[in-house]
Amino acid sequence: MDIHPCGSAPSRRAKAEWFTGTVWQDPIVEAPAPARVRATTVRFEPGARTNWHTHPLGQTLYIVSGTGQVQTWGGPVREVRAGDVVWIPPHEKHWHGAGPATTMVHVAIHEALDGKHVDWLEPVTDAQYQGGGR
Ligand code: MN
Repeated sequence: MDIHPCGSAPSRRAKAEWFTGTVWQDPIVEAPAPARVRATTVRFEPGARTNWHTHPLGQTLYIVSGTGQVQTWGGPVREVRAGDVVWIPPHEKHWHGAGPATTMVHVAIHEALDGKHVDWLEPVTDAQYQGGGR
C-alpha cells in the first residue's frame, strides 16, 4: 500500500498546445500496469477549455465545483455544474472547460489503451466556445 500525502506532488500547468487558457492538473491515480485507470483533478479558469479530443476507452467527468461547458462534435454547447457526472463514449470527439465567467473543477477518470488515454485534436475556437458553430 502506498499513501501519497497531499502536497507531495506539484500541480502541473496543462500544456498550451492542448488547452486554451490557464488550467492546472493534480493527479489522483496514475497506477502502474497492469492497472490502467487514471484520475486527475483539473482546474479551469474562466474561459479555459481543452482542445477537441477523443478517448480510446471513454471518459467520466465528475464536476466538483463551479459551472462549466461541454460539447460533442456536431452538438450544442451544454452547461454542467457541481455534482453533475458526464460520460463520454470511446472515440467521441468533444471538449470540456469552464464557463465564460466562472471557474470549473472536475475530476477526469479514464482508462489507458496500450498506454494512451487521449488523442488530441485542434483547439476550440472562440466562436465554437460561444456556441456559434464551427
Ligand atoms: Mn475528455
